[in-house]
Order: sequence, then structure tokens, then C-alpha cells
Amino acid sequence: TRTPFIAGNWKMNLDHLQAIAFVQKLHWSLKDAKHGDDSVEVGLFPPFTDLRTVQTLLDADKIPFALGGQDLSTKDSGAYTGEISGAFLAKLACRYVIIGHSERREYHAESDEVVAEKVKAALRHGLVPVICVGETSEDLEKFGASAVPVGQLQVALDGVASSADIVVAYEPVWAIGSGQAATPEQAQDVCAKLRDVIADKLGADAAARTRVLYGGSVKAANIASFMREPDVDGALVGGASLVVDEFSAIVRFQK
Ligand code: 13P
Repeated sequence: TRTPFIAGNWKMNLDHLQAIAFVQKLHWSLKDAKHGDDSVEVGLFPPFTDLRTVQTLLDADKIPFALGGQDLSTKDSGAYTGEISGAFLAKLACRYVIIGHSERREYHAESDEVVAEKVKAALRHGLVPVICVGETSEDLEKFGASAVPVGQLQVALDGVASSADIVVAYEPVWAIGSGQAATPEQAQDVCAKLRDVIADKLGADAAARTRVLYGGSVKAANIASFMREPDVDGALVGGASLVVDEFSAIVRFQK
């Protein structure tokens, strides 16, 4: 059985001072919810400049949220101005790192090959890559929903060991920040095909163990419908992860 994972991708929102207030309120709001045990894992993905502050707060107050970065370098160290090494994230007690988000692919020209290199960099440093894949609305019209994300994941998993700990997130680009989420049936269909890719590349055990998330306009009102689907193991939440009550309600989803 796979522990549901509710991940908040803050994107470029909340500076480190705002992050303190936000995490404290969220923790308060969830204190009687059963997060932190096997019923649901909560992950926060703040901007790099917040990570040290949030890590210190989680540690001091024994708050059971997992922490992750929103990106990392393909390289481990050296003359790469502006880049962040997976080694630095690991030192800040990050368990996860988002890789290949559609905003990185679009605005920073990240190819499938760069994404694959970043997956290997994350694994080298003991981080769990949250590998994002998804089709644009043009892809959807031309190729249907699953062809592009399936192809992206095949490349991202090239050369990855079958024992690797990974998370996959299906984020249709047309559903991100649009208020127009995929239907639960659409999400299930693509998530099941992504699980087949994991089975092909990493084997049946990895496919059974790996969490596949849905992302794109997830909110408190639709989370339960996604979580009812057998191949959707959680959500990667953008906008709604910035509103304490909304994110808290998403974490408390009832199947
Ligand atoms: P929204 O939840 O704002 O649609 O964003 C989804 C996303 O991109 C999470 O990574």
C-alpha cells in the first residue's frame, strides 16, 4: 500500500518571513489531523531562500512535514553561477526535489534529457525526485492525453535503478493554474499508463510501490474525487497550497 502524498509547490511565492507564519498556521490547522503517520504525508516545496528557515522551524517544533526543493542542478558543485546542488538540499534535510515541472520546461527550456540528468543528480544525493510530466493543450489535441507524458517519463527513467525511490506527478499543462482540472477519469487513465511505464523501466515492484500524483487546479472541493481513483496516490498542489485553510482541507481529504 502506498501512503498518500499531498505536496504543496509554492512556486515563486512566500519569502522566508511569510513562510514562518504560513507553516506555523498550517501546523496548527492540522494538529488534530492524522498527517505524519501512514494515513497521509504532507510535503512542502518552498523557494530555495526559504529552505533553511523552514527546516529550522520544522525541526524546532517537531512538525511532521517533509521538505523539498523546486529544482536542482545537474552538477554537484563548481563554477555554475546561480545553480543549487542536490548536496545542499540534502544537507537542509530535504527529502524531495521537484524535477521537470512544466514551468521549468517552458521558461527554462528544460529538455527531457536535462530532466533525466537531474533525476540522476537527485538520486546521487539521496533525494527523492518528484518527476513532473504532462501534455499541453496542443499535445492533447494532436496526440491525446497520454502520449507526451508517457514519452517524457520513459526518458526521465533511463538508467534509473529498479530500487530507486521516486515519485511521479502527472500535471497536464492546460490544467495548471487554469481552474480547469482534469476529470478524475482522465487523471486515472494517464496515471495508470505512467505506472505501466514504471513497470516497464523499473519492474513490477517499483510500479506497485511508487506514488503517482495528479496536479493541476486541485482544491478542497475536488481532491476526494481524485483520491478515489486507484492509480492516483496524491496531489501536487500549486495555488491552493498557499491558502492555509484550503491546503489543510486538501490534506484532510476523505476517500
Ligand atoms: P495549480 O494547483 O495552481 O493548478 O498548480 C499546479 C502545479 O503546477 C503544481 O506543481
